[in-house]
Amino acid sequence: MDDLLKTLGLDDVNPGTWTGGKSLGGEGAAVRESYSPIDGGRIAAVRETTREEYDAVVEGAVEAFRSWRMVPAPQRGEIVRQIGDELRRYKEPLGRLVTREMGKIAQEGLGEVQEMIDICDFAVGQSRMLYGKTMHSERPEHRMYEQWHPYGPVGIISAFNFPVAVYAWNAMLAAVCGDVMIWKGSEKTPLCGVAVQRIIARVLEANGVPEGVFSLVTGGREVGEWIAADERIPLVSATGSIPMGRSVAQVVAARLGRTILELGGNNAIIVSKSADLEMAARAIVFGAVGTAGQRCTSTRRLIVHEEVYDALRDRLLEIYGSIRIGDPREPGTLVGPLIDKEAVEAMQAALGRIEAEGGRVIFGGEVLDERPGHYVRPAIAEVENHFEIVQEETFAPIVYLIRYGDLDEAIELHNGVRQGLSSSIFTLDLREAETFLSHRGSDCGIANVNIGTSGAEIGGAFGGEKETGGGRESGSDSWKGYMRRQTNTMNWGRDLPLAQGIEFEV
Ligand code: NAD
Repeated sequence: MDDLLKTLGLDDVNPGTWTGGKSLGGEGAAVRESYSPIDGGRIAAVRETTREEYDAVVEGAVEAFRSWRMVPAPQRGEIVRQIGDELRRYKEPLGRLVTREMGKIAQEGLGEVQEMIDICDFAVGQSRMLYGKTMHSERPEHRMYEQWHPYGPVGIISAFNFPVAVYAWNAMLAAVCGDVMIWKGSEKTPLCGVAVQRIIARVLEANGVPEGVFSLVTGGREVGEWIAADERIPLVSATGSIPMGRSVAQVVAARLGRTILELGGNNAIIVSKSADLEMAARAIVFGAVGTAGQRCTSTRRLIVHEEVYDALRDRLLEIYGSIRIGDPREPGTLVGPLIDKEAVEAMQAALGRIEAEGGRVIFGGEVLDERPGHYVRPAIAEVENHFEIVQEETFAPIVYLIRYGDLDEAIELHNGVRQGLSSSIFTLDLREAETFLSHRGSDCGIANVNIGTSGAEIGGAFGGEKETGGGRESGSDSWKGYMRRQTNTMNWGRDLPLAQGIEFEV
């Protein structure tokens, strides 16, 4: 056992099923080995959740909800405050585990844990602000208002690329809202799930929080499908690919449950002729090669004005030539490995399709196999927006260059994909900036000016439109997604007047 695993309370083989600080059996469970994409080395293993254990977890969650919903919201916030403090204590080792199991560079691993801490802080404040409106009743001596109540058990299905932060976005808000959480992380990052559960468990035990409030289950698609189909779970928040979201949406809708969907993106930056090109180039590189192109908000398309196209392309070629690719733990590395062999193959297949459809790969794309792990050189390609490969999200560092002549054309190209997550324009022209942000501009859930597409703050509502799924998480009033709304009318008079002036004498 190495020191990192010990610090995080992880063993060589870990239970993958938890209700609070209590782990469940593991009898007959499949064991999933976790290998690091950095060097292919085995890190440790996790026992997956069996169907029996899953049912016990959900029953425990249903039971825990009965008492958790009775805890005043600010007191629930106090538990989340302590979870935030515990995450502060474990920021460094947990960030290192994220890097080791998922492969993102050290700075991004730490940033991910910081995002968990930030949402805890946000949720603590929110726990005192679960506001409903009051309305003036049209009937005399009546009072009308609305309240927000918790749903019950919330299923959280998350993706490999943000193995800890996306969980916290959901769970910390849902917790202050009075829900109880059943988390299934990605099968590609099972140790991160167990490590987070152990960190949280210390706070839960110290405060006597019922076990079923924060639960963890481990496994692949099948366990996600159990959650989607489970009538005991009124709300499912699912983060992942569009095919996954389509399946979850249909299964949950068939039982008239609710979903929050955070699916794939195909994010573009428009670079206008008035842009600060150097600033644009830096934002593009962070957006396109950061996390090795494995962010839902990664920059995938560049829509560049014809007058600055050549200059920007040449500057990008220059920067791409000097990017350090390698061990994500080493300072100075900007691009770590892809998650696995399949991701490398998917990128190679995409590069082949670019050429086959008439595009041109003008930089990179090589598999760097002189060392173990899944390393590639980020690629730049010249394409047209309508190519089928450009219309898809390839979860790898490939950025597409597309030319435009006027802003209307740029916006049409920009919106001419099926996804709608994040977007940006680089311009110093006020009219262009405001047009992009207006109702005839970007059709995405996130639209920025002179900032890239990735790296959102937790204070805003995060999510996207069209095939990205329409869900919102994190800041602003996203908390409403985790609660049910109830309209209340109170008659404090002695008569029974009816709305709309209806007379109904009995
Ligand atoms: P994935 O779709 O392969 O898996 C995501 C999760 O869903 C995993 O936990 C998986 O086990 C589960 N799952 C898969 N099929 C399922 C099904 N039919 N029913 C229930 N659960 C199922 O995605 P991934 O490769 O882990 O992550 C990459 C994808 O996630 C990209 O498309 C990326 O854009 C997207 N993503 C989106 C956001 C966002 O906020 N919009 C954030 C992170 C990642």
